[in-house]
Amino acid sequence: MSQDHESALLARVPDRLYIGGQWRAAAGGRTLDVHDPATGDVVRTVADAAPADGLAALDAAAEAFPAWAATPPRHRAEILRRAFDLLQERTEELALLMTIEMGKPLAEARGEVAYGGEFLRWFSEEATRIHGRYGPNPEGTGRMVVSQHPVGPCLLITPWNLPLAMATRKIAPALAAGCTVVIKPAELTPLTTLYLVQLLEDAGVPAGVVNAVTTSTAGEVCEPIIRDPRLRKLSFTGSTAVGQRLLEQAARGVLRTSMELGGNAPFVVFDDADLDQAVDGAVAAKFRNTGQACTAANRFIVHRAVAEEFARRVTERVQRFAVGRGTEDGAMIGPLIDARAVAKAAALVGDAVRRGATVRTGGSAIDRPGTFYAPTVLDDVAPGSDLLREEIFGPVLAIVRFDTEDEAVRLANDTEYGLVAYVYTADLARGQRMIERLETGMMGLNVGVVSNAAAPFGGWKMSGLGREGGAEGIQEYLQTKYTLTPSPFVPGPATPGLSAPSLSAPSPS
Ligand code: ADP
Repeated sequence: MSQDHESALLARVPDRLYIGGQWRAAAGGRTLDVHDPATGDVVRTVADAAPADGLAALDAAAEAFPAWAATPPRHRAEILRRAFDLLQERTEELALLMTIEMGKPLAEARGEVAYGGEFLRWFSEEATRIHGRYGPNPEGTGRMVVSQHPVGPCLLITPWNLPLAMATRKIAPALAAGCTVVIKPAELTPLTTLYLVQLLEDAGVPAGVVNAVTTSTAGEVCEPIIRDPRLRKLSFTGSTAVGQRLLEQAARGVLRTSMELGGNAPFVVFDDADLDQAVDGAVAAKFRNTGQACTAANRFIVHRAVAEEFARRVTERVQRFAVGRGTEDGAMIGPLIDARAVAKAAALVGDAVRRGATVRTGGSAIDRPGTFYAPTVLDDVAPGSDLLREEIFGPVLAIVRFDTEDEAVRLANDTEYGLVAYVYTADLARGQRMIERLETGMMGLNVGVVSNAAAPFGGWKMSGLGREGGAEGIQEYLQTKYTLTPSPFVPGPATPGLSAPSLSAPSPS
């Protein structure tokens, strides 16, 4: 990949805010720098929105809402489908852009374009399946009509680790439902969103339906939007701490909220598991995105009888990983997003080692430009180690050993999070017991990657609220209306014990 090719691509990415169908500079002309984490270089400078820009974006979304909500579902579906097609055509550009600003290996960036694109296709199909109900009330005196309506203007806040997929996973269902949006991407990766917004405009999304504000001051820009009564929905993906703060802000306006927060996924390997499969799954579940995913396996809980063999095989695989800038041929492990992420991985590994863990491979930052941490395997991690409680968000595979199924379940559930769990066993009955017993919103049974646009993504406990994707995903952007109409027929004889109020009778509530 030549430097010229990258520069030409970067120069084509919009560098301003997108509000009401116009590209405009931030109030006061502020800008923010975007870095390549593999080199530390500034690759592009984009507008850095102020609070007034955020409110201008909400103005645009609120103004565009009634007309967009009134469009035929098929019309919205066709636009989303066109966006899906454009994304396929522009896969290489978008993948390269993500690799440059976020660091993931190019092959994985292509994978994210495929995954992220699926939300556009899936919700283009769901747009025409927003159904209601019609039926008699039990008394026979009326007919109940249940219909669904778009909730209104939405604020979508996305993280840096999957900058495309987290945006399409929110924008597509919102638009399919008839909502308009303001999207605020992470300050570390604004380019992917700006590129996507341009693509949505090319696909025919009307002015004001999607608005994008990039900013280095997320809190200052978002809070006035969240407190504005015109906003009706907040969808957030990011850390639990920020999610909790946003929930407090959203409480005042009783906003609909969707929260995709932290994870601490257990990866349980029983002694009857197919170890080849388990090792493949472990590599995918841990090292995808260089470990920077909320679905990343955080704790490998392995039966003592197979733990040594599992650790040996997984270590052998990890030692063969090529580390490098995501554009380098065969690179499997890219840089972490920033120096803070490297420091966090180093601190968690340091704590585990102090408490007795064995480093099978890796165990330190890599001394080269950019923010690289060596892919690491830690064995015999002691209870109480910080990395068993905290999301590592880096390429560190930590193994603890267990003896009984009950112990495995207890260890797996011993976390305030409940996003995803992975289980490897060849015993069907045991697999079924684990489906029942694990406290988790998602589970991979003998597979290491579960994400799919057609599936309800989301967590239990402190991992969040709501679901993205699947038939459930569009519900987050719809609200229900129940209407009672009189029965077109004269009701028959009253059923004993069933009061048959006339429709004009005063209601108990
Ligand atoms: P991470 O630790 O992965 O960066 P964050 O939760 O800090 O996760 O960030 C996720 C998203 O939330 C980013 O877009 C970030 O800018 C945004 N964000 C962070 N703090 C706030 C805040 N106080 N209000 C609104 N958005 C915020």
